[in-house]
Amino acid sequence: MRIFREPAKLQRWAKMRRLAGAKIALVPTMGYLHEGHLSLIARAKAAGAEEIVVSVFVNPVQFGPGEDYEKYPRDEKADLAKCRAAGATAVFFPTPQNMYREGHSVYVVEEDLSRGLCGARRPGHFRGVATVVAKLFNLVRPDVAVFGQKDYQQAQIIRRMVRDLNFDIKIIVAPIVRESSGLARSSRNTYLSETERLRAVAISRALASVAAGRSVAAERRRIVRMLEQAALKVDYVEMVDAETLRPVKKLAKGVAVLLAVYDGKTRLIDNRVLH
Ligand code: AMP
Repeated sequence: MRIFREPAKLQRWAKMRRLAGAKIALVPTMGYLHEGHLSLIARAKAAGAEEIVVSVFVNPVQFGPGEDYEKYPRDEKADLAKCRAAGATAVFFPTPQNMYREGHSVYVVEEDLSRGLCGARRPGHFRGVATVVAKLFNLVRPDVAVFGQKDYQQAQIIRRMVRDLNFDIKIIVAPIVRESSGLARSSRNTYLSETERLRAVAISRALASVAAGRSVAAERRRIVRMLEQAALKVDYVEMVDAETLRPVKKLAKGVAVLLAVYDGKTRLIDNRVLH
């Protein structure tokens, strides 16, 4: 497994592999890898990729002031071991300085899907995400890139960016990997105390209880109540069209239920698409 820290070196190697005919997959992450991330690597392998590049970068541009950029968990050694065991062929560990050189002034802004939901609560977040993913796409020029449904809005924005900016990359969105309690795996779960972890179980329970056919307003109120009864502070609960992310009137197939809550100081997101 190769380890790159310099963008230019990664780019050179990826170009060489591409010219040699290798099918390349990219799995962008912020590290502190867990089963959710590893499932993306497995998905890349299943897609027939010969080179699987995992990027590990806590991207400062996607964090707002007062968010957890500094305290975001990092463990380079463990991440390397996990990547190797999962079958990654290259890992990219850039520094903020070599990703954003002095005077960096170009950003990618998606102007529709990123307006609501997490975009409304975390101004600039998706600008940071789209920018770093576009940079990674240009460095690696992968055939496929794998994202998780855990970050539903993010995955939709990336798909839109690929469509609108003509990236020749197939986007795969892999299902949410959960702990046995139902809690969606997340690097941020490490912030949770035992009590908070127990409360967080209400999130997946609430999502699982949503049923098609009911009224959106009543169902939304019921979900909010379930979360609040578990002592979670609701940031948002929204029922939207799974493609356009616009609010819907009826709960039916093709509706995504997206939510964000605070469990103590930790912000957790989760979602479910009704089938
Ligand atoms: P992160 O390191 O949290 O930025 O996540 C990197 C990628 O892994 C994103 O595409 C996430 O959607 C995906 N991911 C994170 N957690 C999970 C999970 N529990 N199941 C599936 N994919 C996940």
